[in-house]
Amino acid sequence: MVAQDLLEILRCPVCVHTVDHPLEYYRESWLICQDCGRKYPIKEDIPIMLIDEGDKWINVPKEQLPVPPPAE
Ligand SMILES: [Zn+2]
Repeated sequence: MVAQDLLEILRCPVCVHTVDHPLEYYRESWLICQDCGRKYPIKEDIPIMLIDEGDKWINVPKEQLPVPPPAE
């Protein structure tokens, strides 16, 4: 689990400068940006908020995201 207060403050590093929307917490394994579609994996309860990570999954529908996210 990722703490609720952390989920509320996390933002997509790409969109944070233009919008202020919380990320969708998906299956306790992903954080999804509703604005650009980037998806950030949560590994061992740590959200990986890297643009490169988000880019990898931008075109993958959320239903097809691997749960849990792949290890490095
Ligand atoms: Zn975004």
